[in-house]
Amino acid sequence: MPSVVNDSCIKCKTCASVCPVDAFHECDTQLVVDPDVCIDCGVCISECPQNAIANDAEAEERFVKFNAEQSKICPGAND
Ligand code: SF4
Ligand code: SF4
Repeated sequence: MPSVVNDSCIKCKTCASVCPVDAFHECDTQLVVDPDVCIDCGVCISECPQNAIANDAEAEERFVKFNAEQSKICPGAND
């Protein structure tokens, strides 16, 4: 159940700073999570000031797809 970011993200990068596996990538309008890297630790979900992160079972399908696709294109948020 990887985490998924929605379009409430304000790109503060708090999530990227706490993720133990560098799963976050920075796109033009928001951060996204690479579902193949996320280990589902859940730490980022409670740290987000926008409540913009949920696990993929609770996230909208359009955001699940957006995160999966864009995480392969956008640079790493900690790069
Ligand atoms: S903590 Fe939330 S608002 Fe901040 S960059 Fe991460 S997803 Fe976006
Ligand atoms: S759930 Fe854990 S591993 Fe997955 S993106 Fe959030 S902090 Fe990183």
